[in-house]
Amino acid sequence: MMEEVLVLNNFIAGTMLPCKRLLDSYDPSTGQVWAKVPDSGQLEVEAAVAAAKRAFPKWSSLSAQERANYLLKVADLLESRLEEFAVAESQDQGKPVWLAKNMDIPRAVLNLKHFAHTIPHQLNKSNVQPEAGVVNYTLREPMGVAGLISPWNLPLYLLTFKLAPALMCGNTVVAKPSEMTSVTAYMFCKILQEVDFPAGVVNMVFGLGPTAGEALVTHPDVPLISFTGSTVTGRHIAQVAAPMFKKLSLEMGGKNAAVVFSDCDLQRCIDVLKRGSFINQGEVCLCTSRIFVQRPIYEEFLEKFVEVAKDLRVGNPSDETVFLGALISKSHLEKVRTYINYAVEDGGTVVCGEGVDICILPEENKNGYFMRPTIITGLDDNSRCMQEEIFGPVTCITPFETEEEVINRANNTTYGLCASVWTSNLGVAHSIAHKLKVGTVWTNCWLVRSIDMPFGGVKSSGMGREGTEDSLEFYTESKTICTKF
Ligand code: NAD
Repeated sequence: MMEEVLVLNNFIAGTMLPCKRLLDSYDPSTGQVWAKVPDSGQLEVEAAVAAAKRAFPKWSSLSAQERANYLLKVADLLESRLEEFAVAESQDQGKPVWLAKNMDIPRAVLNLKHFAHTIPHQLNKSNVQPEAGVVNYTLREPMGVAGLISPWNLPLYLLTFKLAPALMCGNTVVAKPSEMTSVTAYMFCKILQEVDFPAGVVNMVFGLGPTAGEALVTHPDVPLISFTGSTVTGRHIAQVAAPMFKKLSLEMGGKNAAVVFSDCDLQRCIDVLKRGSFINQGEVCLCTSRIFVQRPIYEEFLEKFVEVAKDLRVGNPSDETVFLGALISKSHLEKVRTYINYAVEDGGTVVCGEGVDICILPEENKNGYFMRPTIITGLDDNSRCMQEEIFGPVTCITPFETEEEVINRANNTTYGLCASVWTSNLGVAHSIAHKLKVGTVWTNCWLVRSIDMPFGGVKSSGMGREGTEDSLEFYTESKTICTKF
């Protein structure tokens, strides 16, 4: 039986507004259209920005604690609907339901609670500097209407990581989630209505990047853009926004390395890198896609890692025993498969996964966008699979001999998001961590994320940092007041 297709509305000035033009949104696990998403353009963005602008004076004049109370109500309601949101996130994105239940939705709740609890304290910190005859102090003021643009891999998780600090700092918001994963953002708007969130403070405009996204980025009344997505789009946004002097935070792609030394705890390293390479179908910007293994343990590492990768189940996202669900779209699956062809053309060996092992799927998932975890060896560091972001369940493994060699090789990419280092020698761990050109280094762990720590990338992976203090800095402008006495 065909499920009823969900039709989404834009959320502007506290009201659900239908859009005449609609886009198809697919359930990646079946290949069927399951939602229709507004194909918004200039007019809808204009209306949303105008609503956010009208709501700004009142929202920004509330105390931080009053704003926090609103966010905490939203967080509580979201938490009480964890199951419903997790199922929707899975159906929209393709990830296993258990992952959405344990990671995406709890983290969205935490984002709201964390910034609701920390920003009032930070905003109220006094910063007074007396000098001879004068007293200086600074204010942190909201910027106005914040434009938030988010990707499809961690939809509600990344949206709320922007939304919560932007609102807590006193800004109003126009958000544009990915056209491929808009459903949980829409459900979130319904929660805002239920808790009587002040109208116009949060506006959600759904649609494509080059139309709805571009209209938001170029809008003169939006002084700040927080973007997470690909490096290609980030570069374009930077080019468009720079002449308008907009404040920008760009969180972009990665080509993240793991450096595995002979003296590491091999079992633990393999367990974590299995997640690090294949969780969320490898569709996490922080996923590991190049593993450098020190020569003496290379063969042993490869054999064990291939064994665990082959054991990972791929299939229906609602099956609790499945580790990988479906990739986001047909075209993305095709793109990832193209990289496997490149690997073969470039002289690599596909040890397991795509093209080697068969993906056995239930009947209802036969048209879904599934792929087995894939491991490639024998590639040159400058080959396409070692240089370009694939953003799927694909990782390349290569041996190395010395510390100095591996630092140069790990840094040999235009990206610089994160890396992990595996060794029992703490001195080596720190020394390597200092030399890797990335925003975050994990030693003997991966994806242990504290919201307090600055998050972001270097080189083509990003510009700016977000996290407790960094978000406060980004979503406010500081003003100095000097009084003579
Ligand atoms: P994308 O760049 O295609 O799209 C991201 C968002 O930007 C979407 O909402 C899209 O509609 C919008 N967009 C596209 N063109 C636009 C334009 N011209 N103007 C304004 N908005 C526009 O990225 P994606 O495919 O959705 O996401 C995958 C990418 O995101 C990967 O490269 C991944 O590494 C990256 N990512 C980075 C982080 C991080 O924190 N660094 C986190 C998650 C994902």
